[in-house]
Amino acid sequence: MIVMATRKSTTKRSRDCIFCQMIAGKLPVSVRYEDEDILAFDDINPHAPVHVLVIPKKHIAQLSDITKRDEKLMGQMVYRCKALAKELGIEQNGYRVTINVGGWGGQIVPHLHFHLIGGAPLTERLGLYTEAIVAVSER
Ligand code: AMP
Ligand code: ZN
Repeated sequence: MIVMATRKSTTKRSRDCIFCQMIAGKLPVSVRYEDEDILAFDDINPHAPVHVLVIPKKHIAQLSDITKRDEKLMGQMVYRCKALAKELGIEQNGYRVTINVGGWGGQIVPHLHFHLIGGAPLTERLGLYTEAIVAVSER
């Protein structure tokens, strides 16, 4: 379901951030879940049959920026990944939840997000860049 959301959340947002614009209802998203603190939506470039991004409505650029005050929010996000995995029918076979952090971590969008990926067997290789995979396989 693609919607232009009309959100009234007053949490802190960054004007230049694409995910904050989605939260503000300025960009269309395929919403999977929404509450006061969290938005979950389909990734525009899915890596698997199920690829959902779970994001906090509060603008946090990356995982390294969370503070003690975000502990509860992080728990809500992890719980939401688990709940969505069940709802989307990928719980039984297994799935992956990943967080890319910063440049070397492969993070492109500077608004914290959890990737919930599943619906097919996933590669065992986690987190290696193509160059690194080539280097490893040449050993
Ligand atoms: P990351 O590399 O961890 O920063 O992941 C950012 C993710 O955001 C990528 O998987 C993108 O495909 C996804 N993305 C970027 N723009 C959009 C958008 N407009 N709607 C949905 N997903 C998006
Ligand atoms: Zn943001």
